Amino acid sequence: MDFEGIIEKASNLLMDSNFTIGLTGAGISAESGIPTFRGKNGLWSKFKVEELATPEAFNRNPKLVWKWYKWRMEIIFNARPNAGHYALVELERLGILKCIVTQNVDGLHHLAGNKCVIELHGNIRRGRCIKCNYKVIFNEPPENIPPKCPKCFNLLRPDVVWFGEAIPKNKLERAFNLFSKADLALVIGTSGIVQPAGYLPYIVKENGGLIIEINVEKSAITSIADIFIKDKASIALSKIVKYIKDKLTSKLYDASENEL
Ligand code: NAD
Ligand code: ZN
Repeated sequence: MDFEGIIEKASNLLMDSNFTIGLTGAGISAESGIPTFRGKNGLWSKFKVEELATPEAFNRNPKLVWKWYKWRMEIIFNARPNAGHYALVELERLGILKCIVTQNVDGLHHLAGNKCVIELHGNIRRGRCIKCNYKVIFNEPPENIPPKCPKCFNLLRPDVVWFGEAIPKNKLERAFNLFSKADLALVIGTSGIVQPAGYLPYIVKENGGLIIEINVEKSAITSIADIFIKDKASIALSKIVKYIKDKLTSKLYDASENEL
């Protein structure tokens, strides 16, 4: 099947589905200029992510971990949603996409305008006190690092889920419930190797549902994907939305013709 044929097939499956859930990863934000973990991170490439995004790393060297987060925050605060994020807003508005479960911590789905978003791994725009749990919203990266809790003066940490940490129970339950209900999972820009997020599409598959995957390369999900669209998220999603809107418009047009 050629590329247009694959887009057409994916779009029709989306239109026929009763309950589509999205799963997104760093790849959807790559075109907003936010580096993925498994790409080349320039000056940070000499560190492994596992040496920075863990509670052990923070205990060992909070300043180094904050330096990395400050660098990431600077990029994220300057980033804007891209055509891929906006296409997901359209799919939600059309009633096709019921919710997005994201592994991203950049907040761009909210910024784009999606209403139902579950941020499994937290949000880099928030800090949390390691002692009293007080939460702080950052409007810009903290000037002095590591930043301190305004209430008890202990250290703040990024309010994200690190490797080796559990996702908050209520969020994980909501995500599992949504994926249990879904008859279609739209999986975008994730390597699928971070658990438990990577397992969510498997629930849909086990229940007899379908998987549509968009990624520039194969992932740990591709083997169970019914449709694999090998392209950038912004391109594939924009084409899907255009196809669906055109089809809905021509249906409306046909209906009005029939009435005459
Ligand atoms: P990942 O870095 O492991 O994988 C990124 C995936 O995106 C890869 O499979 C890659 O092939 C694909 N990709 C790259 N560019 C793409 C594009 N333009 N269109 C479609 N696909 C593209 O990311 P992950 O699977 O999300 O998991 C790693 C962890 O990284 C998550 O826990 C997440 O919190 C964290 N993370 C988040 C951000 C962010 O918030 N933007 C950025 C980096 C890492
Ligand atoms: Zn505190």
